[in-house]
Amino acid sequence: MSRQRINTICVQGGYRPGNGEPRQVPIIQSTTFKYDTSEDMGKLFDLEAAGYFYSRLQNPTCDHVAAKIAQLEGGSAGMLTSSGQAANFFALFNICETGSHIVASSTIYGGTFNLISVTMAKMGIDVTFVSPTASEEELDAAFRENTRAMFGETIANPALTVLDIEKFARVAHRHGVPLIVDNTFPTPVNCRPIEWGADIVTHSTTKYMDGHGSAVGGAIVDSGNFDWMVHADKYPGLTTPDESYHGIVYAEKFGQGGAFITKATSQLMRDFGCVQSPQSAFLLNLGLESLHVRMPRHCETALAVAKFLAAHPKVESVTYPHLPGDASYDLAMKYMPDGGCGVVSFVVSGGRSAAESFMKKLKTAAIETHVADARTCCLNPATSTHRQMNEEQLAAAGIPAGMVRLSCGLEDREDLIEDLEQALA
Ligand SMILES: *Cc1c(COP(=O)(O)O)cnc(C)c1O
Repeated sequence: MSRQRINTICVQGGYRPGNGEPRQVPIIQSTTFKYDTSEDMGKLFDLEAAGYFYSRLQNPTCDHVAAKIAQLEGGSAGMLTSSGQAANFFALFNICETGSHIVASSTIYGGTFNLISVTMAKMGIDVTFVSPTASEEELDAAFRENTRAMFGETIANPALTVLDIEKFARVAHRHGVPLIVDNTFPTPVNCRPIEWGADIVTHSTTKYMDGHGSAVGGAIVDSGNFDWMVHADKYPGLTTPDESYHGIVYAEKFGQGGAFITKATSQLMRDFGCVQSPQSAFLLNLGLESLHVRMPRHCETALAVAKFLAAHPKVESVTYPHLPGDASYDLAMKYMPDGGCGVVSFVVSGGRSAAESFMKKLKTAAIETHVADARTCCLNPATSTHRQMNEEQLAAAGIPAGMVRLSCGLEDREDLIEDLEQALA
């Protein structure tokens, strides 16, 4: 069969029922699996046979959904995790250890910034943050002998900068390391980073993939394009024997397309247990079935809202990659000509108190710490996530006190614009 198109994969990817089997992905709500002999089970423990024995490592429901996401991204293998945080941690820690170094874009999700700069620093893993608009020479200069990964977000949350994936991939590969891209905001419907040179793609499935604010989750997809054996000295975890599995060498036994995800499952999932529940995976799959229908609507609405706000006298500035004139506009057109995401940020004139009273008057948009679901929501960082900062500190962090992050949902865009209009008035 020829490679299916993206909409078909959203609906049917990852699971193909046999004769008389359930049409919908079954929820295998079982921690454990039964075998006839100890030898049968032993083969699974030795990674000599594929199969299920304990849902902390793998569960069929999760695997069907992971296979769909891998297919959507055009990757060779995929896995689900309990959250986006777990996905990014596993993607990095699968190839980093004490003494390693990471080069990461500075405009990434706050949780990931904290994970890398504080928690992974405690594990002895260093990071150099680079501007997403840095030149190739500046990016080159950030690399060291011990650099093991480069990291960025296709559309950064909440900065809304677009990553120049081809440029980052070119630099990463010149230094013999993979590029990991968090593709949460555009989703594979709008951008497939592997097609532009990314080696590993991660997701917070909590956002558009679920799309209904119902289940926290994450995913990792490997492109299968990075040749670990060529850089064997850098990645001993993939290219030298794992004694916990009788000396298996992942890159040999599971090949270039299977090594990364197999190692992340059989070591990191085994040891950390950040597993997605089958129930959550089922909900995630329902979201995926309509992802290709929902994304264009989120994007059309966000562009209309961004245009309305940009023309409003009480709005100082608007950031939206697909708004002509935006700093990321050219990159947005290159990497996602059909649209990016439904999140718009803008600055209300009058600072913190104006933003606060504006948001109080909103009726359709709710104040929430969330983005990317069916219901429109908004947040003023100065009075919520960055509440402890004074005006000077906010300015230094590049977060104007009057900034509002608005995640456009699936309601009528006229209702959203009317709501914004009355609140601004
Ligand atoms: C939300 C988010 C995360 C973290 O995901 P959780 O599912 O909340 O753990 C990571 N990256 C991006 C871009 C996000 O928006």
